[in-house]
Amino acid sequence: MPSDKPSRSPAISNPAAAPNPPSQLKPLSGLPIAAITPFTTIDFPGRLAAVFFTQGCAWRCAYCQNPLLWSFKAPDQTPLVPIDKIHAFLQKRRGLIDGIVICGGEPTAHAGLPDFLKHLREAGYQTALHTGGPSTEALKKALPFVDWVGMDIKSTPEKYERVTRVAGSADQVAESARIITQSGVAHEFRITVHPMLHSDEDLLAVSRWLKDLGARAFAIQRFRSAGCSDQRLLDAAAAAAGFPSEETLKTIRTLFADLIIRE
Ligand code: SF4
Repeated sequence: MPSDKPSRSPAISNPAAAPNPPSQLKPLSGLPIAAITPFTTIDFPGRLAAVFFTQGCAWRCAYCQNPLLWSFKAPDQTPLVPIDKIHAFLQKRRGLIDGIVICGGEPTAHAGLPDFLKHLREAGYQTALHTGGPSTEALKKALPFVDWVGMDIKSTPEKYERVTRVAGSADQVAESARIITQSGVAHEFRITVHPMLHSDEDLLAVSRWLKDLGARAFAIQRFRSAGCSDQRLLDAAAAAAGFPSEETLKTIRTLFADLIIRE
């Protein structure tokens, strides 16, 4: 994303028309890549990176900026990036960027994620994972191959469905957050806030919950209209500018040494 907020929309939809030099990398498979952002300085802290967007997500967040990634079958108008193009990209970028960010959709929905991350490391790249943490088992399998993880928090566990619009979506997120804080992997928790979906009390409750879990870095991201298809949220976007309150942010700052506010 061309701002200080992590990527949510692919900068290029599909590099299928790019040249296809011969690959020296091991075969990659099992992770459907819908699009690639070739360069980012903000999605993998301290590293120059590219972002790979995986196809498919079981949640339906009202503010989602990538609804084309919801279906586990790639839409006809945005086919998956062919595997040979992924190889070509990785070969071409080696030495020019430090790492690859795997983002979604929801990357942990795919059984091939750990192998894909492992191959990226073998190819000389550091790896970052962006996840909502819907599956503790999938997360545990992926983390050994991850150098940095960003977990999206939707709300307090009791209010997850208000954001994700899927029953039971909070079932594993608290455990996923705990696994991340105890993994030793560098991490950030972040929440995108909108006054129709969250209150100041919700945000304080999320902050205290994460603090109790041992989270060290927390980012609050204000709602952005780009990509959002929910007209109610868009109509209320102006109201989002004053939320959360300064008083709430002041309290949260006392909980985290590393608190980031993303406009
Ligand atoms: S978790 Fe929510 S915001 Fe992320 S891709 Fe799925 S629906 Fe979109």
